[in-house]
Amino acid sequence: MLLYSGYYYDSSRYMGESPVTFVLFILLMIVTVISLIASSSVKSTFRKYQKMASRSGMTGADCAATMLRYAGINDVRVRQVPGELTDHYDPRSREVCLSESVYGSTSVAALGVAAHECGHALQHEEGYVPLSIRTAILPVANIGSKLGYPLVVIGLIISQFDFLIDVGIGLFAAAVLFQLVTLPVEFDASARAVRLTQQYNILLPEEKPYCIKVLKAAGMTYLASAAIAVLQLLRLMSIKGRRR
Ligand SMILES: [Zn+2]
Repeated sequence: MLLYSGYYYDSSRYMGESPVTFVLFILLMIVTVISLIASSSVKSTFRKYQKMASRSGMTGADCAATMLRYAGINDVRVRQVPGELTDHYDPRSREVCLSESVYGSTSVAALGVAAHECGHALQHEEGYVPLSIRTAILPVANIGSKLGYPLVVIGLIISQFDFLIDVGIGLFAAAVLFQLVTLPVEFDASARAVRLTQQYNILLPEEKPYCIKVLKAAGMTYLASAAIAVLQLLRLMSIKGRRR
């Protein structure tokens, strides 16, 4: 045990950081690798089930139109956007944006993704609280994810500007909150997608497990991103604690 803690002390002295900061750094590296694996798994899972045509023969666009119609939403537009896995719901323009490989595709993967994006439109229509919080903190979170870290570094280097450490950490915390509140938003949209594609006969019961696999793989990337953000924030706080 002594040797164990001694190791950390030595390594941390070498890194110029406290043992806690060093452990957080190692955890951050591990979670970053997990995050890379998760994002490559999303692509491979999507490609796998993109080859499986759904029995309903509906396209991603048909699926979106059906879900919106059943929900009684007629002011949300469904449109095609360029790129791969660029699908999203835009709450400002009230548009379900589907990528080329989803919009016109009849695959199980395409229907799962289209249904998930409609899940966000349904959340918006209902005033789903986590989505409202996420939309409200988006502007600050954007600034925080870009400027949080650089401001802390400036504060650490130039002692006259050390107030920037707190400003940077505060802004970064908003970005972390955004990532955390994204989790219920994403998991709820996927749960709605699985439930409603069954209810509206968009996917057959035997196609449900494949739809779940595609959406679960996407969910893992959000989980990994949130874990990275939390660890980064803890690391910044630990660096600050050591300095004071
Ligand atoms: Zn989503």
